[in-house]
Amino acid sequence: MSNFKYKRNQLYCEGVNIKQIAESAGTPVYIYSYQSLVDKYKELSQAFASLKPLICFSVKANSNLTICRILTQQGAGLDIVSGGELYRVAKIKADPKKIVFAGVGKTEEEIRQAIKTKILLINAESEQEVEEINKIAGELGRNVPVGLRINPDISGGGHHYIQTAKKEDKFGISLERAKEIFLKREKFPHLNICGIHFHLGSQIATSQPFARALKKVISLTKQLRKNGIKLNYLDIGGGFFGSANKFAQAILPLIKGLGAKLILEPGRFLTAESGILLAKVLYIKERKDGKRFIIVDAGMNDFIRPSLYNAYHEIIPVVRKPQTANRKPQTDIVGPVCESGDFFAKDRKLPLVKIGDFLAVMDAGAYGFAMTSNYNSRPRPAEILVKKDKFYLICEREVYKDLIRREKIINE
Ligand code: PLP
Repeated sequence: MSNFKYKRNQLYCEGVNIKQIAESAGTPVYIYSYQSLVDKYKELSQAFASLKPLICFSVKANSNLTICRILTQQGAGLDIVSGGELYRVAKIKADPKKIVFAGVGKTEEEIRQAIKTKILLINAESEQEVEEINKIAGELGRNVPVGLRINPDISGGGHHYIQTAKKEDKFGISLERAKEIFLKREKFPHLNICGIHFHLGSQIATSQPFARALKKVISLTKQLRKNGIKLNYLDIGGGFFGSANKFAQAILPLIKGLGAKLILEPGRFLTAESGILLAKVLYIKERKDGKRFIIVDAGMNDFIRPSLYNAYHEIIPVVRKPQTANRKPQTDIVGPVCESGDFFAKDRKLPLVKIGDFLAVMDAGAYGFAMTSNYNSRPRPAEILVKKDKFYLICEREVYKDLIRREKIINE
């Protein structure tokens, strides 16, 4: 159930008129619905209720402190990939026993910090990393729970940039190598190698890739069991979107009886539909052949998914004008950045709009603000949270001063 809906032709987020937010907070601005975040979390946890999994929100999808805290208040754990994310989630006093840490290039300092924080699981992506964690754990006098991220050599996900589990991808350890590491686990006396992790990619709409990966993992766990090795955790990553119920129905029978605690790492599923990006129409260029360019005040630095992955996002006017419903063909919605790749929509049939109108880029709550940059020296947008009929500023808009805050002019 979306919490972004038209009421009398005006777009609302929960009980707040979006136009009112645009006028008070300015544009571009990200707007999130509190209720959507809660609903999506409940949808997933209810679908998997029979196994009581640990649902670790993938912080990279939306690392705003308030968004992360709303999800942890619902019971979520967190999936992190850097020391910076660990720092962030410490600020919201997230329970370390619900934090898992992935990433192919963890630095010594990041590993040290994760061990000191006593997080649930470090998911290692190479044998060298296992050795490194073991060394640091020894220095700190700790016994550290570790999972091995395997690379099941399976394709899943949309754009090839967001596939992560083919053998040619940089992620994870092959199943054979993982088995070897498990078998020689006494070589790592400061580790408890007790988990298997995989993450197949993003925007995976069917459960088949998961089922295929799970079959391989289950075969590995059987071989390990024969060697007296029992797993505590099975972390099947994120990447899924669509119906949580269908996904759970396909996955649950495969993992029941495995005896390991199931961990999920959803990012997009929990936050994508919970957020929009709001932009204002600056100019409209109309070519003689009828092609239109709507130039808005948000650019690829504010929302890069269409440019980077050719991602499709619905774009709708904040005020719907039924009298202009006759749609015009061939409209590109583009930003002000000096790149032809700076677009939000290409060749869409969109209703007529005029200068000063507000447009909403839908489903922008995941990998939206989190992937912003200052390219073209553009300050990052603000972020707003709507809860019922109130809205709150949860991240201030950057100002020009922020752009040069860390720079120095050297006169040599
Ligand atoms: N887990 C890991 C290890 C990831 O790399 C990612 C995304 O890149 C996720 C979870 C979340 O993926 P999604 O947002 O598609 O659910």
